[in-house]
Amino acid sequence: MRWSQTLIPTLRETPAEAEILSHQLLLRAGLIRKLAGGLYTFLPLGLRVLRKVEQIVREEMDRAGALEVLMPALQPPEIWQQSGRYETAQDVLFKVRDRAKKEWLLGPTHEEVITTLVAGEISSYRQLPKNFYQIQTKFRDEIRPRFGLMRAKEFIMKDAYSFDTTDEGAQASYQKMYNAYVRIFQRCGLKAVPVEAATGVMGGKFSHEFMVPAETGENEVVYCDTSDYAANLEKATSKIERKHTEAGSADLPIEKFATPGVGTIEALSRAPYQVPADGQIKTLVFMAESKPVIILLRGDHQLNETKLAGVLGTTTFRAATAEEVFAALGAHPGSLGAVGVKQIAVYADAMLRGVRDMTTGANEDGFHLRHVSIERDLQVKEWADLRTVQAGEPCPVCGRPLRIQRAIEVGHVFKLGTKYSQAMGALFLNESGQQHPAVMGCYGIGVTRTMQAVIEQHFDKDGILWPISVAPYAVCVTPLGIDPASPVMQLAEKIYAELTAQGVEALFDDRDERPGVKFKDSELIGIPLRLGVGERSLAKGVVEIKRRGGELITVKPEEAVAKVIELIGQR
Ligand code: ATP
Ligand code: MG
Repeated sequence: MRWSQTLIPTLRETPAEAEILSHQLLLRAGLIRKLAGGLYTFLPLGLRVLRKVEQIVREEMDRAGALEVLMPALQPPEIWQQSGRYETAQDVLFKVRDRAKKEWLLGPTHEEVITTLVAGEISSYRQLPKNFYQIQTKFRDEIRPRFGLMRAKEFIMKDAYSFDTTDEGAQASYQKMYNAYVRIFQRCGLKAVPVEAATGVMGGKFSHEFMVPAETGENEVVYCDTSDYAANLEKATSKIERKHTEAGSADLPIEKFATPGVGTIEALSRAPYQVPADGQIKTLVFMAESKPVIILLRGDHQLNETKLAGVLGTTTFRAATAEEVFAALGAHPGSLGAVGVKQIAVYADAMLRGVRDMTTGANEDGFHLRHVSIERDLQVKEWADLRTVQAGEPCPVCGRPLRIQRAIEVGHVFKLGTKYSQAMGALFLNESGQQHPAVMGCYGIGVTRTMQAVIEQHFDKDGILWPISVAPYAVCVTPLGIDPASPVMQLAEKIYAELTAQGVEALFDDRDERPGVKFKDSELIGIPLRLGVGERSLAKGVVEIKRRGGELITVKPEEAVAKVIELIGQR
């Protein structure tokens, strides 16, 4: 491709609209342009990178035996009602109306569509297992679209869905996708770590997210340097000890005491009360599907809402308002507790199990209770892991201190079970003629997000350093003068033509620009090799090959093409 004939609108200045480096570089290198918040046009160079990432994904999906399909982006709401997600996915659903005012949805994901297809087309165990995938545009009404392609309203996803006759089969399908993901991210030049992820209300058995460590990531990964343990913060656990108060103080009767003006764990931990945070019970009131529930944690621990969603079996919950709290418990936040509460379901964090001599609110403004023994004095509906792990706590596998690092989620593999097959009637007849729902898995890769994540891991002060596997061009042929009659331009033309004939993806910088501008641009857009043809080097009988971010090599003009091909092969 001749530079003069394509559109590569590079920018010298950092665009104000971009907060993070990878987003800035996408804009500066002329790869994408914003239409509106969360909506981007891929320019020719950006589209070439996108197609390369897609192609890697496609090859690895095919290799793993998945079948490519293409489903409609526009979906009837009825199938979402059938799966039960019409309500629960409300927040992300884009809805449109046709001329008859009938509602349609722009698909944020495709479990409902593929399961409807399988329900219609597959009826026997002989047709299973199957895994279908597509590479397609998704629409999500994200609360905060930001960081360019990282969190967009419209983005490209590879989504795959496996259907098996048994749990073991589903497990094998899951493992195949997991392995394919490892290869995909490796081939894209990405260091992506699989971590255990929360299954939340999807209720699946297990799930892994593929995380690219980066300070700009919106996720937090908990990991251990010694064992292999790595989990999303939403899921992570640790081996911290429960706190048991010494026997002796244990069986004291509950005592009410006045705490005027004390409304926080912190305030109660100060003089004159001096109750340490880990000796307090934190009482939270939430409205879950419009019914109040009480959640108890140790005073120094934080609630993990994803874990709570898994325990409640719904994501439709929120913190209760002060009025709702008062209606439920007869006191205001700051004086709440669960002693004597019978009408409202109490969920307690496992760290509180068996704990004695605790202090908690009295459900009377301005009063607290001391000497509370959890098991003696409270009615707990369910004990569960409800807290968020903190850095430094002992690893659940080996006991060494855990670390927390920010990361970008680029992919997700999920064992779904029979939730959708049951709801949508994707049933099959087994060998003995009995009908069973297919056991499903679902597997997503954010293709556009992955493209940007590659930049997060491959850049320097001059711009992008594309790994050869996803680079828009392998080499930029750069004549330092463009007079068609000059030996420089004639040689450059000849080398460009030969490279192209040999199947090397070459960009020919035929612009009438100063060498400095050409060099800066090819560095900014991150082409792995630059082949410079200039009068001075030609006088010495050589041309220059510069590796992006690396060394400069000189070769004889007639060896240039072979050398470029050799260097490409090494990367
Ligand atoms: P996130 O927690 O980042 O919102 P998600 O859990 O909603 O992701 P999935 O539904 O599992 O994501 O989608 C599969 C993949 O699609 C994700 O791993 C991510 O790479 C990508 N993805 C999800 N939402 C977006 C978005 N708004 N913009 C770009 N890529 C996205
Ligand atoms: Mg999301």
